[in-house]
Amino acid sequence: METSYIIKIDNVNHYYGRGSLRKQTLFDINLTVKSGEIIILAGPSGSGKTTLLTLIAGLRSIQQGSIKILGTEIFKASNQKLLQLRRQLGYIFQDHNLVPFLNAVQNVETSLSLNKELSKKEIRRKAEMILEEVGLEQHMYRNPNQLSGGQKQRVAIARALVTEPKIVLADEPTASLDKNSGRDVVDIIQRLAKQRGCTVVLVTHDNRILNIADRIISLEDGRLSVSKGELLLDISNFMSAVNDIESNQINSMIANLNSQEFADFLNKLNREFKQLLQTLNLFKDHSFNNKIDKIIKVISVKIAQVIKAEQVTFFIVDSERQELWSKNAIGLNRELISIRIPFNTGIAGYVASTGRSVNIPDPYNDPRFNRKIDLETGFKTKNILCLPIFNSQQEVFAVAQILNKAGDIPFDSEDEQKIFLLTKSLGVILETSILYIQQISLWREEEFFES
Ligand code: ADP
Ligand code: MG
Repeated sequence: METSYIIKIDNVNHYYGRGSLRKQTLFDINLTVKSGEIIILAGPSGSGKTTLLTLIAGLRSIQQGSIKILGTEIFKASNQKLLQLRRQLGYIFQDHNLVPFLNAVQNVETSLSLNKELSKKEIRRKAEMILEEVGLEQHMYRNPNQLSGGQKQRVAIARALVTEPKIVLADEPTASLDKNSGRDVVDIIQRLAKQRGCTVVLVTHDNRILNIADRIISLEDGRLSVSKGELLLDISNFMSAVNDIESNQINSMIANLNSQEFADFLNKLNREFKQLLQTLNLFKDHSFNNKIDKIIKVISVKIAQVIKAEQVTFFIVDSERQELWSKNAIGLNRELISIRIPFNTGIAGYVASTGRSVNIPDPYNDPRFNRKIDLETGFKTKNILCLPIFNSQQEVFAVAQILNKAGDIPFDSEDEQKIFLLTKSLGVILETSILYIQQISLWREEEFFES
């Protein structure tokens, strides 16, 4: 083999249609995949993921460019060569594609039926063994219509892997599954692939499974953005840790960052957040608002640690209602509570309406200070640093409130500078949270009009 790359794609363009209807779907795709890697190919629907995957699989002919699989060029390859190639690949479809009148074992056997070296008995044994490995020992002799979606997809995995292919290509294998069976299915793919040293290219826009990837690349309007992959992986790990916030994993992820590293992380998170949203269709994920709240919570705890403050709270400006919403205030029992305060009361209200930051060493002697919140939360405010956060139109859309510097000393200008830089990086995340709230109310209205 000429290189250590198992898949090498160079300058691939692809078009559908003819004449005036001809439309370019893939633009100058370049990608190399190393042996044993698990690659996730993400991207919105219609971005060309299936087209690219079927080109790699030799299921569609290459029009322009070069794809080498295991060192063999498949552009203009003979049918004979393509057939040989396909035997070294396992393909998993979105909808399992099982033969309805064959049971699970027989479906798996169809992959081996071309193999002249194996006896019927050996074929049966291999099929049964791999079905056991995917956890279907109880269901081997059932037909697809007697299996759940997740079980059918596991049969499809067994069928793709029973030939011990070097490469497994999977096109949205979890798309029609619920959360838990989707997770099981990718865990099985990952486990079997790692055991066998298989290379996997998995298409998905399911953000819950990104953390199985060694590398994530994303397609957008037919173009690859490989450079973002590593970052997306960082952030998707962060996001999946957010899902499981009680598990301390997230705290340990950022606890050990020093303040510069944390600032860099926030910057990256912020920069990539929008893209992550688009790529992964997070807006369709109804628990997403909840996740943003958790992200904001985790980040505020870390900011508090960096600044040596007791508490960091973010307020979002709801200009329509002339209110501030807290995203992460903490109640009497350390639970997250939602506080809404009118625009023109309290320190945060002052900052929101004037766009000025304030540093108050003795709030109980400041007429702007609203004692009511301390009364409600049981918190004793000793000193306050409060800063506006501006959006791209230079409007205040959020306020950061930092309370009680350690050692009962007032905040200084260095704290102010640090907070300014850190919260600036939170802009997109906070804005997203507002967008999300607006989006939700739009959906509600749509539902209202539909009903
Ligand atoms: P994805 O898998 O990311 O959803 P596809 O690769 O299926 O995207 O499709 C990419 C684009 O090519 C879409 O605009 C789609 O409508 C178009 N397309 C896909 N298959 C065909 C086809 N057989 N004929 C014409 N256009 C197609
Ligand atoms: Mg597709």
